[in-house]
Amino acid sequence: MDYISTRGDAPVIDFEHAATCGLATDGGLYVPASWPKFSHDEIASLKGSSYTKVAEKVIARFVGDSISSEELKQLIEFAYADFDDPQIAPVRELREGLYLLELFHGPTLSFKDYALQFLGRFMDWSLQRNNHRLTVVGATSGDTGSAAISAIGGSSAIELYMLHPFQRVSDMQRRQMTTNQDQNIHNYAVDGTFDDCQAMVKDIFNDTEVRARRSLGAVNSINWGRIAAQVVYYFYAAVQLGSPETAVSFAVPTGNFGNVFAGYTANRMGLPIERIVVCSNENDILTRFFETGVMKKQGVRQTVTPSMDIEVSSNFERILFDLLERDGQQVTKLMRKLRENGQFEVGPDTLQRARGQFDAVRVDQQETCEVIAHLYSETGTIIDPHSAVALSAADHFDAVSSSPLVVISTAHPAKFPETIKRSVGTDVLIPSQLARLLDMPERYRRISNNTNELKKLMFAA
Ligand SMILES: *Cc1c(COP(=O)(O)O)cnc(C)c1O
Repeated sequence: MDYISTRGDAPVIDFEHAATCGLATDGGLYVPASWPKFSHDEIASLKGSSYTKVAEKVIARFVGDSISSEELKQLIEFAYADFDDPQIAPVRELREGLYLLELFHGPTLSFKDYALQFLGRFMDWSLQRNNHRLTVVGATSGDTGSAAISAIGGSSAIELYMLHPFQRVSDMQRRQMTTNQDQNIHNYAVDGTFDDCQAMVKDIFNDTEVRARRSLGAVNSINWGRIAAQVVYYFYAAVQLGSPETAVSFAVPTGNFGNVFAGYTANRMGLPIERIVVCSNENDILTRFFETGVMKKQGVRQTVTPSMDIEVSSNFERILFDLLERDGQQVTKLMRKLRENGQFEVGPDTLQRARGQFDAVRVDQQETCEVIAHLYSETGTIIDPHSAVALSAADHFDAVSSSPLVVISTAHPAKFPETIKRSVGTDVLIPSQLARLLDMPERYRRISNNTNELKKLMFAA
């Protein structure tokens, strides 16, 4: 399977490369050169299959022949072996026609585990067999860091540098990262904001000396391997609810658009999806785009759903590429406008096409907390704030949809205890995966907001 850049001016690469690199050399993101297809019968044959079986069939289409099916099977079984629910991604009915897809049963209790537990193992396998080593540098405001550390800790082929803003992630989120004791994991707490951390990562990727001495990789959702692994749960949930005979809709709490893009990919592969609802908090750049056709930066506001507090969704470039009929030059032009003027606009036909694929809903914080409280009083179920944004958006949307609607639940509520307490008045039960961290020693280094200091530490390690 070949992968091409959304800006049309980078080498074509295979899955093994697409699953380790960050940006393409032209600044674009890699996407499959053509969409792999599942026929009606092939989708029907997934019915009753376990999560790992569906994963084998779906991921195989992206990997092509770079790995044998036996080895892929092993990697996948290993990746999901420690999940705390036998179904791995259970679908629960909330009321008739409305379902919750629980993606918080991995080791760090957010949906990032579903991609990273696979990707970490695949990267390790690929590096070992090619006798390569990789230096992964990333910035996190919470969930990505812990999921990456859990997936990559102990790898002998990967050195992981994870930056988080000092005292700006929650106590539990920090402990999920800093209690790891593997020698290949380097946790740095930066005196600055998440944006400062991200800027340092960018500097490192652009630094010629670092690039000459280290082979750099990324684990954020610009890495295609993450998207490939996320396509799996769309198939897994949809066949349980009647696909391929029935089309299913999904409501997705959205930040960098990776999760939504995985749903879009499943649809391109042949899975009948009626609507994908792009759910945002007050950081509503995507909602405004789908309303007006204008993508305009407005700065970031802090909310009770930190993983959705974004200024620009990096994966949106992938959908833009398709909306513009895969014209890399057009994408390059629009992305340059966004960088230079803080905005771009698409024409009415493109906007029409975008609306044909997606609905977009904005949910404010008060509504989010009310939805958590309401579901709790009706059913006794507590959901996390990100999932609540999607549930609330689903309520807006419910009236116009006849197909089953699946709300994607991206985190365990225990990751956000303050908001839960404020919404429902009681403490959420802390699962053992988190409770045990409270007694474990932490290991991290505080560093200044200075890329040279980071560089020195990287070369000293
Ligand atoms: C990362 C994250 C999101 C946003 O997902 P994207 O793929 O970036 O859109 C939503 N909810 C939670 C809990 C997350 O960790």
